Amino acid sequence: MNKPWLAHYPPQIPHTIDYPNKTLQQFLREAASQFPNKIAIHFLGKELTFQEVYKQALKLANYLVKLGLKKGDRVSVMLPNCPQAVISYYGVLLAGGVVVQTNPLYTERELEHQLNDSGAEILITLDLLYPKAVKMKAVTNLKHLIITSIKDYLPFIKKLFYPLVQKKQQQTIVKVKEQEDQHLFSNIIAFTEEKEIEVDMDPIEDIALLQYTGGTTGFPKAAMLTHRNLIANTLMCAHWMYKCEKGNESILGVLPFFHVYGMTAVMNLSIMEGYKMILLPKFDPETTLKTIQKLKPTLFPGAPTIYIALLNHPDLKNYDLSSIKVCISGSAPLPVEVQEKFEAITGGKLIEGYGLTEASPVTHANFLWDGERVRGSIGVPWPDTEAKIISLETGEEAKVNEIGELVVRGPQVMKGYWNQPVETEAVLRDGWLYTGDLGYMDERGYFFIVDRKKDMIIAGGYNIYPREVEEVLYEHPKVQEAAVVGVPDAYRGETVKAFIVLKQGEDCTTEELDQFARSRLAAYKVPRIYEFRKELPKTAVGKILRRVLIEEVKKRS
Ligand code: AMP
Repeated sequence: MNKPWLAHYPPQIPHTIDYPNKTLQQFLREAASQFPNKIAIHFLGKELTFQEVYKQALKLANYLVKLGLKKGDRVSVMLPNCPQAVISYYGVLLAGGVVVQTNPLYTERELEHQLNDSGAEILITLDLLYPKAVKMKAVTNLKHLIITSIKDYLPFIKKLFYPLVQKKQQQTIVKVKEQEDQHLFSNIIAFTEEKEIEVDMDPIEDIALLQYTGGTTGFPKAAMLTHRNLIANTLMCAHWMYKCEKGNESILGVLPFFHVYGMTAVMNLSIMEGYKMILLPKFDPETTLKTIQKLKPTLFPGAPTIYIALLNHPDLKNYDLSSIKVCISGSAPLPVEVQEKFEAITGGKLIEGYGLTEASPVTHANFLWDGERVRGSIGVPWPDTEAKIISLETGEEAKVNEIGELVVRGPQVMKGYWNQPVETEAVLRDGWLYTGDLGYMDERGYFFIVDRKKDMIIAGGYNIYPREVEEVLYEHPKVQEAAVVGVPDAYRGETVKAFIVLKQGEDCTTEELDQFARSRLAAYKVPRIYEFRKELPKTAVGKILRRVLIEEVKKRS
């Protein structure tokens, strides 16, 4: 196929990469022997070397095997960015298991769905989240809880960390007792043997993790990402950043590792390239700026809302951010103005990339150093990655500059959706992944995203699927119809708006709906704006036309 973008590649970036036939855990083992005493993790003052991370992950792996974990068994890891998140992820892999990435903000209902769908029998989480986790034993196949505390690594942390935790959560901290089905992470790390575990793995076929993502069909489904998928994407990333030195960079880990972007662009990249990761459990502009000034990370992957928040900080100019060489923005469109301002202040590069869960995630990016950067473009496909635009009318490859659906193919593209053959067939055809994003390619081979075919809302870096929010609103006894759309928001990029039609004769306040939604959905999914209507636009067969509402919102803004 025609790949006009390759003509723009600087000589330092290969068109194709030789991927080693290894598993992710082999890379950690190698980092531990190549850089035993180098710092792998910096977490609020506590540091762990590559060797310590490996040994602790191995202890956890041995313990999981003792609990009965077999190759391919799923283990849910529900943690914010902290050393335990890295140790748990690699511990599960070392035991031959599959990591189920679980968002700590999930409500009980969302967690229950994920555990039942994945079939995970072991869950690793924080004491803060214990009350939610323990309830899962009654409604899922969950057999064992492994509980850790931020204090396991930071015994004196109270003052520093707890302000980052919501007040309500602080009250729920419980002392967890060890018993047959409840295990303390600190004891596992203190008392378990660290013998090597041999599991017969095929990096090309065996899945490393289930990464949940939404769709227009309601509840999230899991992309099956293999070892090869994840290793390929991380090595592409390392080649793209060819001026970065193996074993000699430090990377700010503010993107959550339970999301595919933070997992690849921070955690796996650090392990595979011997970089130090500086972890922040939660994004907060002030802490982020202070951390950059003090610990001088050289790499800072983020999302547009993160860079916007930093730019809006009143004291930004008083911080020294000059250590930063590279920032890669992904997840949502990066406004050009933000890019330029941020580069002017840091002196480092801020480039836009593009990806999606199903592609581990990155498929496109702009060039960092040599090679032209094009304003408003997501850049060009990465090595070994093919991309084309499919015309929505003909189903054939679109012409240059014609808008259609972006489809991609490459070693980073998932194996399929877990237990969802119909959904898989809908998006994977001949190895091509149909992204659901609308865009075009210009004559030079640069790609542009114009809109999402699927109506996903991205607010503050989180994906929100309107249908899921609507389903909750429909559960309210006074609601007759609900339609949820994203509306532009200066800070979150987009925010959630709900159009509501009440049942005849009913009266209902916004507060009442808000309370109802909050008890059933993670906070970031809760609508911020409500509009009551007498009726909603519909098709002839009665399907609500969300698109028409989106158009109305666009016209008004
Ligand atoms: P996720 O699966 O959570 O990684 O979300 C993937 C979706 O985020 C893509 O399908 C796009 O709709 C959107 N996205 C990611 N990067 C960009 C970008 N640079 N510009 C526009 N949309 C993006």
